[in-house]
Amino acid sequence: MAILRFQALSQISSRPFINVKAPSEKASDYFGEKAFGPDKMRENLSPEVFKKVDYAIKKGKKIDPETADAVAAAVKIWAISKECSHYTHWFQPLTGATAEKHDSFFDAGDGMEKFRGTALVQQEPDASSFPSGGIRSTFEARGYTAWDPSSPIFIIEKTLCIPTIFVSYTGEALDNKAPLLKAMEAVDKASTKVCQFFDRNINRVTPSLGCEQEYFVVDRALFNARADLVMAGRTVFGHNPARGQQLDDHYFGSIPPRVYNFMRDFEIEAWKLGIPVSTRHNEVAPSQFEVAPLFEELNVATDHNQLLKDVMDKIALRHNLKVLFHEKPFAGLNGNGKHNNWSLITNTGINLFQPSSSARDNLQFLTFFVNTIKALHDYADVMRASIASAGNDYRLGANEAPPAIISAFIGAQMSSVLDELEHNGNLKIEKGDNLYMKLGIDKIPEIILDNTDRNRTSPFAFTGNKFEFRAVGSDQNVANPMTVLNTIVAQQLTEFHKEVTKLADGGEDKRLAIIVVLRKYIKASKKVRFEGDGYSEAWVKEAEKRGLSNVKDTPRALDALITPSSKKLFANHKVLNEKEIEARHETLLENYIMKVQIESRIIGDLALNHIMPTAIAYQNKLIENARGLKELGLDNTEILRSIDKISEHLKNVKVSTLEMIDERKEVNQIEDSREKAIAYCDQIKEKYFEKIRYSVDKLELFVDDEDWPLVKYRELLFLR
Ligand code: ADP
Ligand code: MG
Repeated sequence: MAILRFQALSQISSRPFINVKAPSEKASDYFGEKAFGPDKMRENLSPEVFKKVDYAIKKGKKIDPETADAVAAAVKIWAISKECSHYTHWFQPLTGATAEKHDSFFDAGDGMEKFRGTALVQQEPDASSFPSGGIRSTFEARGYTAWDPSSPIFIIEKTLCIPTIFVSYTGEALDNKAPLLKAMEAVDKASTKVCQFFDRNINRVTPSLGCEQEYFVVDRALFNARADLVMAGRTVFGHNPARGQQLDDHYFGSIPPRVYNFMRDFEIEAWKLGIPVSTRHNEVAPSQFEVAPLFEELNVATDHNQLLKDVMDKIALRHNLKVLFHEKPFAGLNGNGKHNNWSLITNTGINLFQPSSSARDNLQFLTFFVNTIKALHDYADVMRASIASAGNDYRLGANEAPPAIISAFIGAQMSSVLDELEHNGNLKIEKGDNLYMKLGIDKIPEIILDNTDRNRTSPFAFTGNKFEFRAVGSDQNVANPMTVLNTIVAQQLTEFHKEVTKLADGGEDKRLAIIVVLRKYIKASKKVRFEGDGYSEAWVKEAEKRGLSNVKDTPRALDALITPSSKKLFANHKVLNEKEIEARHETLLENYIMKVQIESRIIGDLALNHIMPTAIAYQNKLIENARGLKELGLDNTEILRSIDKISEHLKNVKVSTLEMIDERKEVNQIEDSREKAIAYCDQIKEKYFEKIRYSVDKLELFVDDEDWPLVKYRELLFLR
């Protein structure tokens, strides 16, 4: 098998560079040319139709059949002018990937290209093999996709892709997008109501999102030569190279030419699709990089993140590269995260997390700021659950990743603003006083501007004008954590509105009522705030003392989804009903089980069929050598010692692997998903993975480089 490794290695040097050419020097010439966004709609639809669609988008209302027909006709003309032959409803099932099923515009029966409003609005993919967590087995097996007009239609290759939500025949959500749209509606409603305390012109609040996507890039031939990367997306074995990331010389370093070429290529494709990618740089680990678009409306940003990952995957092929989005492809090196930069923006153009020079606006800013912290405090476990996955379990709490403890970092300046507010409860406000000045909230902008300390170790950080949820996994669909964040904030703001209104109705000055309630929240949510080093052991202890949870594995973290409080939360805001939450919980557990099962199988296969035979063959060579030395009357103690060591590791690999396989058979008998997932976590993954790996990685150091079957870390990671 070493042949495979050498063949793969020999292919790299002969890779020709592909010539990347942009359609035009200026990106603005072709930005969005493959997307049917609001501008194209305005251009291609009659003013009446455009008005109706625009209204439906803004209000989240249904589009009537005539309007749908008119849009379909315009979209068809545009798509055919771009050489599209097929169309598809593009959706995001609970697999975490995207799905599509292509239909041709050409109708052979009529001999012409057709695309009706009904085909735009609704499709019925044969969806019985998508995960549903049991919803569809109890009802009709059918599901349907429904057009989401708030996200632009786009073209991939020669196919028109229509962003849709995916629901069961009885209306339950079967995807990641339907709940996200509902959570956006919930946060809009709750925020708008609260904004009315400050500004009557605010009638709509939209969450926005900017995703910083991390990834590794490896040579495709080397990737293909590693069964674990192909099957599980991560390396289950591999000794650390002499040089890993200890020199910190990769971060923001110059991008290797092959990767640079690939980046330019996928950026051009992304721009054509209207994805506003703007930042690229090296990350901390060798061969690790980041791409970030400018932030967009949450819904569109979510679609664009999924789409961008697909585009990167496709374009990488062209360059004989492979992108690794797994949260932890390499042990001992940083994992891949996806910082979710999030804020709330009003129809009047105000970012509610942006401190301003107006004192009144600052009270509004503080309101949203404190309520977000309070929401995080109250629903930390649900937030933790929202980022739980088999892949992210390897990352949370490991190298340069936030811990599994949910806390908020707000910076020294905001901490002192909140502290002051908390402690000036006895302040006497007299008539004619400048309330804002007395409360010390008239000067926040100045304070924020010189807020330079940025804590990279916090899972949830305030970074000047937005919150950054940093514990999100790189391979995850961000719809999930964003659904949770927006729902908990909606819940919190609703509560806040109630409390303030009650005080104001009782005769309290509204501004003072707001302050009183905020002060209460600041006190109540204090324990979730942490400014120190989130990676330190001390924090783990401190968090425990504070009573914060630290749930390290997915099956247990997911428990938080199905508590009465969580069910009530999602039901209250009509984001997910009880049945849908149960189904989601079930799907996530099933997904976890399958992921760990696949890893366990690949570990078994590699250990028994690749590593063992190679190490035994090498050991035989040593035995021969030891015999020869002895015959010649020479000292062979060192060789004997090596043989002994190899035996020890071989024994561990063999025994542990066989035990793991037996134990897996037992675990597979468990019926209950939660129990089974926990068993996979404790009895398979925790008990064996590291144990087997330890010996395999030691054997890698013993065995002749020429014979080793797996592409080594140093070969994978130092792409030139
Ligand atoms: P960092 O220093 O964390 O890399 P950047 O300023 O580069 O931060 O921003 C990272 C991401 O945050 C980008 O996608 C950016 O567009 C996005 N972002 C900036 N402002 C906002 C905002 N108000 N709401 C949401 N995302 C934002
Ligand atoms: Mg960031």
